[in-house]
Amino acid sequence: MDYRTVLTTCTYCGCGCNVFLEVLDGEPIGTIPCKTSPVNEGKLCIKGWNVHEFIRDDGRLTAPLVRKDGKLEEVSWDEALDYTASKLKAIKEKHGSDSIGFLTSARVTNEENYLLQKFARAGVGTNNVDHCARL
Ligand code: SF4
Repeated sequence: MDYRTVLTTCTYCGCGCNVFLEVLDGEPIGTIPCKTSPVNEGKLCIKGWNVHEFIRDDGRLTAPLVRKDGKLEEVSWDEALDYTASKLKAIKEKHGSDSIGFLTSARVTNEENYLLQKFARAGVGTNNVDHCARL
């Protein structure tokens, strides 16, 4: 039996509370608040206490999908990224940068949200960026 705790950041909102995920034989089984974090000082809201539950949710995508002949097909990351890059490039050339928008998520870290807005602004050339926590 392999039990360990992994220090990470709660992804439910932008506060960035630190938690230890309890992992048993590779499966997340619980969440413990980090007492030394200056953000949450050992406290969590009810969402944070349950943040480990969605990691293995049955409805969660675990591989990239591309629609082919009307049906979603599992593809490699290389194929998905090539497909997405070529589509974004074609749309930008035909309709301009501001015809593209990006929606990001409260269930990723602030750093990942930062990277997406950076990609939108510096890579694609649009300020059309929004986030589900603002809706
Ligand atoms: S524990 Fe609650 S307040 Fe802290 S980051 Fe998670 S959702 Fe936000």
